[in-house]
Amino acid sequence: MSEAYDTIVVGARAAGSALAINLARSGQRVAVVDRASFPSDTLSTHVLYPNALAALDRLGALDEILWHEPPPLHTSWHHENVSWRAAHTPIAGRDWALCVRRFTLDAILVRRARAAGATVHERFFVERLLGAGTDTDPVHGIAGRFDGVQVELRARQVVGADGARSTVARLLGVGREEVAASPTAMAYAYWRGIPRRELQEFYVQPPWTAMHFPADDGYHVVAVLGPHEGWDGRPRAQTYLARVHAVPQLRRRLERARMSKKVIAATALDGFWRRPTGPGWTLVGDAGHFKHPAAVQGIADALAAAEALAPMLLAGTQRRAFGPWRESANRELYDFSRRAARAPERDETAALMRALAREPALARDFVDVYSRTRRPSELLDRLAVAAA
Ligand SMILES: Cc1cc2nc3c(=O)[nH]c(=O)nc-3n(C[C@H](O)[C@H](O)[C@H](O)COP(=O)(O)OP(=O)(O)OC[C@H]3O[C@@H](n4cnc5c(N)ncnc54)[C@H](O)[C@@H]3O)c2cc1C
Repeated sequence: MSEAYDTIVVGARAAGSALAINLARSGQRVAVVDRASFPSDTLSTHVLYPNALAALDRLGALDEILWHEPPPLHTSWHHENVSWRAAHTPIAGRDWALCVRRFTLDAILVRRARAAGATVHERFFVERLLGAGTDTDPVHGIAGRFDGVQVELRARQVVGADGARSTVARLLGVGREEVAASPTAMAYAYWRGIPRRELQEFYVQPPWTAMHFPADDGYHVVAVLGPHEGWDGRPRAQTYLARVHAVPQLRRRLERARMSKKVIAATALDGFWRRPTGPGWTLVGDAGHFKHPAAVQGIADALAAAEALAPMLLAGTQRRAFGPWRESANRELYDFSRRAARAPERDETAALMRALAREPALARDFVDVYSRTRRPSELLDRLAVAAA
């Protein structure tokens, strides 16, 4: 196999397939490779806010997502005897979120990439880059195992959309910078047999938060966020179920439901940035920048970065334009994600929750930070005053 492409994208999920769709639509010859075969799951609690839904619609993926009947979700938070709920400011007419398992979402994106004209190779494990990524020897292809056979693919440029543990970054020696140590871990399981609900709910029980996200095809994601302690040295399911059952509303709701065999725990959630471009190579999505998932930004970020990067790659301006774009699109949310990732404290939570329950406009602005129609800087001072 020695075809030549304009662009090879390593990684075929949110960032990779979205980039391939955008490039192929502009007439580029694009190959996308992934060691996974789809449908396949990956670490995620799968929530998509209206900005992500609008991006998926532009990729032609939203109609197929909706065939899987994920319920439209408004947001509700609970702490002790205080509760509030809010809808987002609509984007393209949608004021709700969806929870779509990556098993469903990523397979749809891969299909859309093929339909747009990209060549997608599943079960392709990239092991080597052709070219050192220097001015005298730019990256010009990949080498690896495709269905167990050693192959090389050549292109004018290679994009690493291969996730936080990016092979492309490792092969180039591009390390993590500005690392934000993760103050909390996250664990979740899939459930079935819960009646349909149209709310994503957060139950704060300092230092833990439990979450319920009704998802596609009748599945539900029930997650917990909290201190790192408790996940090592004893069965994960025991720690997880203890946290979930500590919330009376969840315990009642899950009584007759069935839990998946596996409880998934994610403890390595440090935020970071990596240098995004160099001769013949670019990193996009989690490969180049990762935020703690408490801010629920990763998929939307990957889609937005792919959409911004495609015209830069076509014009050859990515080396001067992509870094500044990424910085301005993500810096404030990176700082916000560090706050969102902290384990909640009781007094601070109580004051915040009372303020949000008292002022519906503030609650809407709060959820709009997650869908990016409000900037954290527009909200945090008002929150501090309201909670004082
Ligand atoms: C616990 C947790 C919960 C989260 N919850 C949410 C949420 O609710 N909402 C949200 O928006 N985001 C969430 N995120 C973040 C989100 O999952 C990521 O930001 C998103 O998946 C990034 O997409 P990506 O395409 O950049 O990378 P990935 O989804 O990581 O995809 C990378 C792909 O590259 C492939 N790959 C890697 N190495 C190679 C190789 N050598 N050869 C070939 N292929 C390779 C992998 O197989 C993979 O398919 C969560 C993250 C975590 C950890």
